[in-house]
Amino acid sequence: MHFDIVIVGGGAGGLELAAMLGRRLGRRQGRERVLLIDRSAFHIWKPTLHEVAAGTLDAHQEGLSYTILARRNHFSFTLGELDGLEAGTRRLTLKALQDEQGQTLIPARQVSFRWAVLAIGSGSNFFGTPGAEHAFVLEQAHDAERFRQRLLAAFTRAAFSPEKRLGVAIVGAGATGVELSAELIEAHQELQDGLGSEQRFRLDISVVEAGPRILGGLPEKISRQATVALQRKQVRVMTGTKVQAIEADGLQTSQGRVPADLIVWAAGIKAADSNLRYGLSTNRAHQFIVNDRLETSAPGLYALGDCAACVWEGDKLVPARAQAAHQQACYLLQVFLALLAERVHAPAFRYRDFGSLVSLGDNKGVGNLMGGLSGRNFFVEGLLAKWMYMSLHLNHHRAIVGGVNTVVLALARLLQRRVSGRLKLH
Ligand SMILES: Cc1cc2nc3c(=O)[nH]c(=O)nc-3n(C[C@H](O)[C@H](O)[C@H](O)COP(=O)(O)OP(=O)(O)OC[C@H]3O[C@@H](n4cnc5c(N)ncnc54)[C@H](O)[C@@H]3O)c2cc1C
Repeated sequence: MHFDIVIVGGGAGGLELAAMLGRRLGRRQGRERVLLIDRSAFHIWKPTLHEVAAGTLDAHQEGLSYTILARRNHFSFTLGELDGLEAGTRRLTLKALQDEQGQTLIPARQVSFRWAVLAIGSGSNFFGTPGAEHAFVLEQAHDAERFRQRLLAAFTRAAFSPEKRLGVAIVGAGATGVELSAELIEAHQELQDGLGSEQRFRLDISVVEAGPRILGGLPEKISRQATVALQRKQVRVMTGTKVQAIEADGLQTSQGRVPADLIVWAAGIKAADSNLRYGLSTNRAHQFIVNDRLETSAPGLYALGDCAACVWEGDKLVPARAQAAHQQACYLLQVFLALLAERVHAPAFRYRDFGSLVSLGDNKGVGNLMGGLSGRNFFVEGLLAKWMYMSLHLNHHRAIVGGVNTVVLALARLLQRRVSGRLKLH
């Protein structure tokens, strides 16, 4: 199998790049020249995984099939997991795929390319903390779905237990940890509203953060507002607290033991260990080191998003965010259009921070918007911030299914929620 451009990983960045390239090249050329590979058959925008985990977003309804996206956007798609890469001969190997009974569905395959993009995202970083097997992570849709199943079982157990209490510990108070805690409070509230008084139970959420404040990467004002909002919802915010060990029923921390029925690890990211096998330059977090043209140490091989380490403002790295993956996808679109036309795309990639928005549940958000002509930093909160937060998700949908379909999808989901409720209990 040979394609001019092979994109491995159809997440926030890779899928947008494939869709934009396919549409620009048109039906025949796009399908012949662009191949997207993903280990999953369907796409979910990763920033919504905390909603899937809390049961407030249905993964099966939200997920979009890559095959259909490929047909609509004029690129080719194949299901597969990257297993090997030979930069010199411009060839990559995909693992054999097996069904649940261990029977081979697709044998191992090789794909050759002129140019390739690694857009395979990242996973969790436990920083060597013992007991990682006791914690849930939110790396892929099935992690979030697994957590949701366990959460529902834990809800039921708590409702019928004499203690009438469920404890959840979330390690890491970045956007993922903060948003998950707010979403869990909402899910619990929605469930309580439908239970008889004898089945109602308390949900105790502890957010454990080693740094001095929550949302450490964002301006202090956002962190203060979010702390107040979480504390109002009775979330226990433990800053300056280092987790020493994860146990089946709680955490050992520098501030004592935190008992918990469910534990989620949302502290720090690390790219896959297998990234070290491909002979490319990587950093300590196993990300591929790229230059200001997003090219890895091998010519013709690019990387974007969470799996790429790209210098920003001299001494920092472009943050692992959906907006960075999106900007890098837009940049690589121009690079490839130039390469296909045998031109050189001269400008280097420059990341622009447009600010950050964090969802705090029930129509509340908080964040900052950067830039504009004045280059000033605006603080937004409440419903406006929540709407802006939701518009990021819609923008991603617009990039992969078009404007009209995005409106139809949004309306369909809104109507479904009105009829069936927000919480997915089955
Ligand atoms: C719960 C949560 C909330 C978040 N909230 C925000 C937010 O509000 N704002 C924000 O900007 N960012 C947020 N992020 C971060 C954001 O999701 C990531 O920065 C972004 O998704 C990175 O995009 P990507 O394209 O690099 O990788 P991903 O979107 O992670 O996509 C990687 C893709 O590669 C595929 N893949 C992985 N390995 C292989 C392999 N070996 N072979 C084939 N395919 C492979 C995966 O299946 C996946 O489809 C959040 C993340 C999480 C987990």
